Amino acid sequence: MINTEILALHNASDRERAANLLRAGKLVAIPTETVYGLAANASNEQAIRGVFAAKQRPSDHPLIVHIGDISQLQDWVSDVPAVARVLIEQCWPGPLTMVFHKAAAVSPLITGGRDTVAIRMPDNALLRALLRDCGPVVAPSANLHKKISPTCAAQVISGLGGRIDAILDGGDCSVGLESTIVDVTSEPLRVLRAGPYFTAQLSEIIGADVQMPLQHDVAVAGNMPAHYQPNTKALLFSSQELQERINGLNSNAKPAAVKPAILYYSELHLPSAMHNMKLAADRRAYAKQIYQALTEADSWQCQQIWIEQPPTEWHEVNDRLKRACY
Ligand code: AMP
Ligand code: MG
Repeated sequence: MINTEILALHNASDRERAANLLRAGKLVAIPTETVYGLAANASNEQAIRGVFAAKQRPSDHPLIVHIGDISQLQDWVSDVPAVARVLIEQCWPGPLTMVFHKAAAVSPLITGGRDTVAIRMPDNALLRALLRDCGPVVAPSANLHKKISPTCAAQVISGLGGRIDAILDGGDCSVGLESTIVDVTSEPLRVLRAGPYFTAQLSEIIGADVQMPLQHDVAVAGNMPAHYQPNTKALLFSSQELQERINGLNSNAKPAAVKPAILYYSELHLPSAMHNMKLAADRRAYAKQIYQALTEADSWQCQQIWIEQPPTEWHEVNDRLKRACY
């Protein structure tokens, strides 16, 4: 166990401390608009190894490089296709990661040995200033491998406290779901991970077709069927099936066989004693709440978490829920 320093994003001397730690090859959890990332100096292989060790992440899962300024892009990629320039102009800074052909100097530890590298510019001005100051970082989500992604500092502490050097607390993440990943080396462009930028939006921005993510895409290293998992077994049900199951529990005179926690978003009827949380019926608001809701439901110590399946066209949240329930 090491001492994990708690630093505040809104305190200038704390940001300087975080920059110094990163320059020195230490591990610092950083707040981004998507989820908290576990940052390490992207030019320091020993620091990068530390990220894999702290997260217990398999070494062939590639990492996303986070930059603070567009001028930092050229050191990491071999070329920027015209279509990527359009996306940079329209979507950066923001929750869009692009996969480029990598520059020769990029460590294979970052890319899992691939000839491509994933890059993103986060949408938080204080964080970008820090990254301009200390240089680009790799920053996978700041959680143990396969666990729920953290959207506030307390969740980072509960998963990685004692395993990393510091946490830069920037409050709740404004988006709350991992970035959309799009491969800009393919023609047509291909979304590798659904996220806050919807495929249709990207297609409209570039004025051309963009392929939807495939469910078990081998091009997406670390595309695991089980991911984002609470410790409590989680199950996904249609609205109707969930209501029937709840009614079934309620109507039996004998004690219920299972004690579920319910995560729902529509007008279901629940007995008042049942542990439950109602999530937003709006797609983006729901995405922002989902990891927090899974974490909280986990803490209720129920035997199962029953989740109402959101509308099928909410691809990015359905993708995460399917893996949480696998
Ligand atoms: P996370 O662990 O949430 O930061 O997710 C990082 C994900 O980015 C990985 O699991 C991959 O799916 C994706 N990724 C990173 N680099 C590449 C790459 N070069 N090619 C394809 N996918 C990548
Ligand atoms: Mg992750």
